[in-house]
Amino acid sequence: MNNAQFYYARPQNEPVLEYKKGSPERKTLEAELKRQSNIQVEIPLIIGGKEVRTGNTGNVVMPHDHQHVLATYHKAGEKEVRMAIDAAMEAHLQWAEMSWVERTSITLKVAALISGKYRAVMNASTMLGQGKNAYQSEIEAACELIDFIRFNAHYVSDIYNDQPHSEIGNLNRVEYRPLEGFVFAVSPFNFTAIASNLALAPAALGNTIVWKPSTTSLLSNYYLMKIFKEAGLPDGVINFIPGSGSMIGDIVLKDKNLGGIHFTGSNNTFNNIWRAVGNNLEHYRSYPRVVGETGGKDFVMVHPSANVDEVATALVRGAFEYQGQKCSAASRAYIPKSLWEETRQKLSENIAMIKQGDPRDFCNFVNAVIDEKAFDKIMGYIEKARDSKDAEVIIGGNGDKSKGYFIEPTVVLTKDPHFVTMEEEIFGPVLSIYVYEDDDFEKTLELVNNTSPYALTGSIFAQDRYATVKACQTLRYAAGNFYFNDKPTGAVVGQQPFGGSRMSGTNDKAGSYLNLLRWINPRTVKETFTPPTDFRYPFMHEEKCYR
Ligand code: NAD
Repeated sequence: MNNAQFYYARPQNEPVLEYKKGSPERKTLEAELKRQSNIQVEIPLIIGGKEVRTGNTGNVVMPHDHQHVLATYHKAGEKEVRMAIDAAMEAHLQWAEMSWVERTSITLKVAALISGKYRAVMNASTMLGQGKNAYQSEIEAACELIDFIRFNAHYVSDIYNDQPHSEIGNLNRVEYRPLEGFVFAVSPFNFTAIASNLALAPAALGNTIVWKPSTTSLLSNYYLMKIFKEAGLPDGVINFIPGSGSMIGDIVLKDKNLGGIHFTGSNNTFNNIWRAVGNNLEHYRSYPRVVGETGGKDFVMVHPSANVDEVATALVRGAFEYQGQKCSAASRAYIPKSLWEETRQKLSENIAMIKQGDPRDFCNFVNAVIDEKAFDKIMGYIEKARDSKDAEVIIGGNGDKSKGYFIEPTVVLTKDPHFVTMEEEIFGPVLSIYVYEDDDFEKTLELVNNTSPYALTGSIFAQDRYATVKACQTLRYAAGNFYFNDKPTGAVVGQQPFGGSRMSGTNDKAGSYLNLLRWINPRTVKETFTPPTDFRYPFMHEEKCYR
């Protein structure tokens, strides 16, 4: 086996199961939802492969029924954070020196386990703990997570295969070392797949990880740790430490062995992390790699030639799937006056059909937002729209947090294209709309480009190809993922590498080889077969050149 040259071919994307009534996958998922609803899990820290209980605990609850405790979790203290760093550093050499094919076999086994045996476990824990319906969970906690792993195996093959040219007489090689130090993976609540990838992608390249999961996604993230172990991930490669972000960040970001940060979350948290790295530069052995994907204020720009049915459907799905809690959610739309009345009517009809509630009822398209803090923040934006003379809440606008954190799909119409809900990330089921004069298409493109500090995703809807091309040019830097006649959400691994720039992050494109390049520290090794034994140049071999 040592002599085998290995290459992982480009995989197929994991098929999305449909969960139709009576289907085998539906029955298995319903049974697992019931099982997880009837137990309370205890979530320890996992450091160096060992379960650690601190006794300082918190609860994981259902967002749609906040009195229902799904799990209790132990919070890391300063001691455990340092233990996790030590465990990662201890595991580093052995993991880095393990053949990459063996490392990849472990990650591919994780994918195989989630594709089969644990698909329902991952979906049920994501549905109950993070408040997703079955489809929203299936596309990411199963399919995207599996795709990240399988496509990364393929990209790792490509990276390791890329070797420099050698002239006759010498041999040049590039050794793709992992970073010197550990990687700090910090994950958001809203995607189980992202949490997995933030830790596993650098690990696939030989790095060891201190992983700080989000408190509101702990149930699915803990099951993930158990699956990593079952797949054969050695102790200490990924160390799982729930707890306070600022306390954990404060210790980890000062550590001299910090090799890199793999972050996804809000712009504000990423700015704090970046600042801390700047302030700690003199403590580090190497400049840490800083990779962060942050927020969005994603737009849908509609040209007068667009098809209204397509626009209305994209707005409903783009803005309200997973309650708008996607970094890519459509949150501001620009509609030409000539299409506005029809768009408004179709939007109202569609939204009126939406059922909202517990994800265990498969009829519910919209569920609850993640927690009380999010609920209050989102309702605060809706109140601002209600109170303003420049804005009007034309659909929805009500919230109720008595049992779960439910907010109706809400549409705000504003006369002011710079109204706060057109500019700031709300991260909830709120779509803001600005209606423009048809003749102002190009001026409105400039407005879209200059309205928000973010640049994550955006769409243009048009049948007129000149308009599409114009939008694509003017909005070149307004989105890292740009869509023609499609909603701005739902990027698929291997098909639409994901990430944005400006204040949306470092645009290192999760789910592509570009991201993996950040987790290696290449060393070039040159060997000369017959080293020279005379320092002089050939033209110096004349008598007069000697002293
Ligand atoms: P968040 O910023 O509140 O938290 C993210 C993580 O950072 C959590 O685990 C949190 O505990 C941790 N954290 C907080 N302060 C920290 C500190 N000082 N040091 C270290 N870690 C710290 O984000 P969230 O609410 O969990 O997620 C929603 C945000 O994530 C939205 O802004 C969304 O747009 C963004 N997001 C972006 C992408 C993308 O690919 N661009 C994908 C998903 C989510």
